[in-house]
Amino acid sequence: MEISGPRGTRDILPEESYLWQKMENILHQAAQQYGFSEVRLPVFEHTELFERGVGDTTDIVQKEMYTFTDRGERSITLRPEGTAPSVRSFIEHKIFTKAQPTKWYYMGPMFRYDRPQAGRFRQFHQFGIEAFGTSDPDIDAEVMAVMVRIVKTMGISQFQLHLNSVGCPDCRPLYRERLIQYLTPFERDFCGDCKQRFHKNPLRILDCKNPGCQEAVKGHPALSDYLCDRCGQHFEQVKNTLALYGIDYVLNPQLVRGLDYYTKTAFELLLPDLGAQAAVGGGGRYDGLIEECGGPPTPGIGFAIGLERLLTAAQKQNPEAWQASYSPVDVFVVTAENEFAPDACSLLEEIRGSGMKADKDYLSRSLKAQMKFAGKTGARLVIVIGEEEKKKGYFVLRDMKLHEQRQIPADQIIDEIKSILVKPEEEQYAE
Ligand code: AMP
Repeated sequence: MEISGPRGTRDILPEESYLWQKMENILHQAAQQYGFSEVRLPVFEHTELFERGVGDTTDIVQKEMYTFTDRGERSITLRPEGTAPSVRSFIEHKIFTKAQPTKWYYMGPMFRYDRPQAGRFRQFHQFGIEAFGTSDPDIDAEVMAVMVRIVKTMGISQFQLHLNSVGCPDCRPLYRERLIQYLTPFERDFCGDCKQRFHKNPLRILDCKNPGCQEAVKGHPALSDYLCDRCGQHFEQVKNTLALYGIDYVLNPQLVRGLDYYTKTAFELLLPDLGAQAAVGGGGRYDGLIEECGGPPTPGIGFAIGLERLLTAAQKQNPEAWQASYSPVDVFVVTAENEFAPDACSLLEEIRGSGMKADKDYLSRSLKAQMKFAGKTGARLVIVIGEEEKKKGYFVLRDMKLHEQRQIPADQIIDEIKSILVKPEEEQYAE
């Protein structure tokens, strides 16, 4: 029987997982620089959490959830996103009783039963941040600043931050009414999804990707013309703080999140390189969500970035830093005869104990074949142990990068390889 991975999943093999670790380091560091702390939450939750927290009119809940009944007859769903679980945890642990705001970040696999295509998977990974407990517009700008810092640190320079305000339950109903008036003559032309949205969630028609629907909404009234004073002032301050941070944005009146608990700021980060899957991440303010999920009224804002798309964009825009050129080891120890294997083992342990990565042959290869294999591993240094070397107490050290070879006294070998491999901190940083 030939078993392959399920459709929409992918294996991240070692040559690539090394790049993921590098990306994850950037994500941890960026979030922590802005005062966000990591939460690690379960990959499955009660289905009801997502029905409420993501919204039962959304595509995610209607079509894309991995939902099953467990052996205890509970309805369980593999998490399709990270905001609802973060809100659940915030409420469950009564984090709202502590000093606010609460600034959290998370990363890990998410699951959506979507049609797989380039940049779209059924198991994918997201990094996200959430700031609970403050409605200060400066935090909206800060959340976007984290996102922008991440893409810039990855070496992505071609991107656009799209920004809009979706108002609040005070000002949105009037806009909704005007939008329905405007859209009514086009109802026949909408795609199947938008025909349903028209009654339940008409704002979502504005960001439908179907060409017919896009044509219909071309001259739609802009929500920004209907914002109440509070939402208008909030939006102004968000824009001012973004300007202060030197962050450029594009105002996009079609950027919407249709549900009532989404309020004010909405944003998306678009990358030209990604083609049809152009959004690498998006987010917004959700001042009604925590209450909707059973907590006390608490404002919140956050975003999520798709890590597969982030890495793809970095590889396109900054190939030097993100090409797969991983060497599993720094040092490879070869022996002229098999009888020196014990010497190789003790030397290896000493090298590893000094914090460097080292390996040897395990297939009794000839010296020549060991050298060839060492070359394949990409190890910078090769150490040779032979009869003569052992007798006289030295090792032959070959530098594969500089193509040179020297004899090093046995008691100096660790210091010597350290001086070649361990770079000063400022050089490591520049890499
Ligand atoms: P969303 O939670 O839908 O706003 O998505 C946020 C980001 O997650 C998107 O911009 C994508 O980068 C990523 N994403 C969402 N769905 C998928 C998927 N099925 N496959 C890969 N990445 C995804």
